[in-house]
Amino acid sequence: MASSADAGPLILIRRLRQIMAEPGSGQERLDKIVKQIANIMVADVCSIYIRRQDGSLELFATEGLNKGAVHTTHMTRGEGLVGLIAESNEPVNLSEAQAHPAFSYRPETGEEIYHSFLGVPVQRAGNVLGVLVVQNRTQRLYDSEEQEALQTTAMVLAEHLASGAVAGVTVTSPGTLRRRMQLAKGLTLSDGIALGHIVLHEPRVVVTQLVADDVGEERKRLARAIKRLRVVIDAMLDRRDLAAPGEHRDVLESYRLFAHDSGWIRRLREAIGQGLTAQAAVERVRNETRARMLRQPDSFWRERFKDLDDLSDRLLRTLSGRPDTAASDSLPEDTILVARTMGPAELLDYDRSRLRGLVVEEGSLQSHVAIVAKALGIAAIGEAKGAIESVEPGDAAIVDAETGELHIRPGPDVIAAYSDKARFRARRQQRYAGLRDLPAVTRDGKAISLKINAGLLVDLPHLAQSGADGIGLFRTELEFMIAHRFPLKDKQTAIYRRILDGAGGKPVVFRTLDIGGDKLLPYFKHVKEENPALGWRALRMTLDRKGLLRTQIRALLRAASGRELQVMMPMVSTTAEYEVAKQLVREELRRLEAKGTAPPREVRIGAMIEVPSILFELDRLMAAADFVSVGSNDLSQYLFAADRNNRRVSQRYDVLSASMLRALRSIVSAADRHGKPLTLCGEIAGRPLEAMALIALGFRSISMAPANIGPVKAAVLSMDVAKIGGELGGLIDRDAPGLRQRLVEIATRTGVEIDGPGTGVS
Ligand code: PEP
Ligand code: MG
Repeated sequence: MASSADAGPLILIRRLRQIMAEPGSGQERLDKIVKQIANIMVADVCSIYIRRQDGSLELFATEGLNKGAVHTTHMTRGEGLVGLIAESNEPVNLSEAQAHPAFSYRPETGEEIYHSFLGVPVQRAGNVLGVLVVQNRTQRLYDSEEQEALQTTAMVLAEHLASGAVAGVTVTSPGTLRRRMQLAKGLTLSDGIALGHIVLHEPRVVVTQLVADDVGEERKRLARAIKRLRVVIDAMLDRRDLAAPGEHRDVLESYRLFAHDSGWIRRLREAIGQGLTAQAAVERVRNETRARMLRQPDSFWRERFKDLDDLSDRLLRTLSGRPDTAASDSLPEDTILVARTMGPAELLDYDRSRLRGLVVEEGSLQSHVAIVAKALGIAAIGEAKGAIESVEPGDAAIVDAETGELHIRPGPDVIAAYSDKARFRARRQQRYAGLRDLPAVTRDGKAISLKINAGLLVDLPHLAQSGADGIGLFRTELEFMIAHRFPLKDKQTAIYRRILDGAGGKPVVFRTLDIGGDKLLPYFKHVKEENPALGWRALRMTLDRKGLLRTQIRALLRAASGRELQVMMPMVSTTAEYEVAKQLVREELRRLEAKGTAPPREVRIGAMIEVPSILFELDRLMAAADFVSVGSNDLSQYLFAADRNNRRVSQRYDVLSASMLRALRSIVSAADRHGKPLTLCGEIAGRPLEAMALIALGFRSISMAPANIGPVKAAVLSMDVAKIGGELGGLIDRDAPGLRQRLVEIATRTGVEIDGPGTGVS
């Protein structure tokens, strides 16, 4: 076989295209194809083996081997060199084929006289359809250009086979080899069950035009697309909502490296040189990388290959003028969106009414997309490794965000079980909806104020839907986190005004910016800290950057003009800190009045109790603050010194333990002593058993995720505070162990409904 790599492949591809368009039977065309390949590649033999349904490979056409072997020679799955190529999806290049351990001698072919062997998979969209082989009498290794030429030829051949042009060849459509039911595991980002159909956030492009009409033009197209791709990646790296450090950023950095990788670009250009269109060249090179990725034992490198795979997808989309995300496509009504990474604003681009579920391969519980998914009430799972690889667009799928599982192509039994589960949840929701307009009063007549936690404009409808008494915690930083740049005063004023308007007179407690720690603003320079949770966060930061706090307070005061404004400070560690912040609010109020702008009807300034030091200063704080609210998420994190975001320790200590309950009880009595309004707005308020304990301790106002209002109200309506309060007090005083279990027993004995979703009891 002569080295004919320069003009050879181009001529060959063009010749193949002519043959494929010629009249005649599929078999006749295949016969001509093998003849052409053998001729142009100066090979003594060229053969095509096609994969059958049972996985065996059948010799379909040959030039050089005995013709009698055609449709007679079958290699069973994995048998011989041909089987090896099909199984491994990789080329085999040998100077002495018969010396290879996998070689399987078939006398009917007469191949014993040929020594050198080059075989490549005929694959389409990752599925091996067959194997293309050339052989020569001489003992020699084929050079890399010859191998690439044969791979390019195999790609064109694959497309021809997939078009159904050859009778007797049943080609499985892309993905059909993966059409088994599969399960991907991840983490719950937003609770819920969703049954629907897969849509890829970044759609794959199927390359249909393979052969270039004008190689020079294709090279120019490639160059333009790579340039555009680099600009897009640079823009993404600059994008503020993706600026926070994390896995997504590593991915972007590696995209950037690959987009400038001269080896990758050279291979793409060479593939075009062999007669492929720019898209087909990307696909060709990608197929090789995929094969290397599958072989790669090291997970770091496997991930990098995956990045390159993603980048190829992007390049294909750029080349075909396809938009970057599926948000503008017409979506099925029951869309389950699968993404590798996703920013919060990207999720908001979708038509919510069509979204049922979300799966993000790299989304963690703290990711901003998780916050938005929760606000939108979409069942979502994150850290679902391998999800994208396992799905095909249009596949049926079930997101079980209770367990963090994605069922791909589920069987009828699984679908039936989940339909039941979804119906059960819907019935339960219906029951809670029935409680919506009932006042939350305990059996012994204690009125409990149930409020919701919110943080985004999209949360507003939850207030009316849940029938809550108000917004007990509005986390102002969330709108900042999903914005592309820092919202200036007017923008902030508009947001707060819309919140107050939307609340329709129900009270809203705005918390000033709680940023720092794990809550990063993408457009702010990130300060690296050894211990972010113990670092420059919340009030500590805004007291050092008073401009931030002042702007926010001004916006709040303006937005609340003529109405009541409640604003509270997060992470108060000393009363003195709170007093400085309060003073600042007062100054801004005076400034506003001096300007002649109508001030709020009333301004109340609160403090969050979430740092343990303040537990030992409660009287001073209560005397100073207009109201207080317990942030039990942080309070328990700092009390137990257990990072709330570290799964290894976050569940280790029970909030229903004597230490935490004593701390909470001391807050209740201090608030009572000073006659100060008290709320608790951490996650525990939304769990019926914990809510029961809080009410038994004396809390009369609690604030929670909107979905928990129903289950907690059911608990409130069925409890008797006097009975449970006395018993719980005794247990705490006696340092009784196993408090959670004892509380469950009390609830069961006294008929308190504690079996809502997400309680761990249902
Ligand atoms: C808390 O710490 O309990 C709280 C409500 O605030 P966040 O969860 O926003 O820190
Ligand atoms: Mg907090």
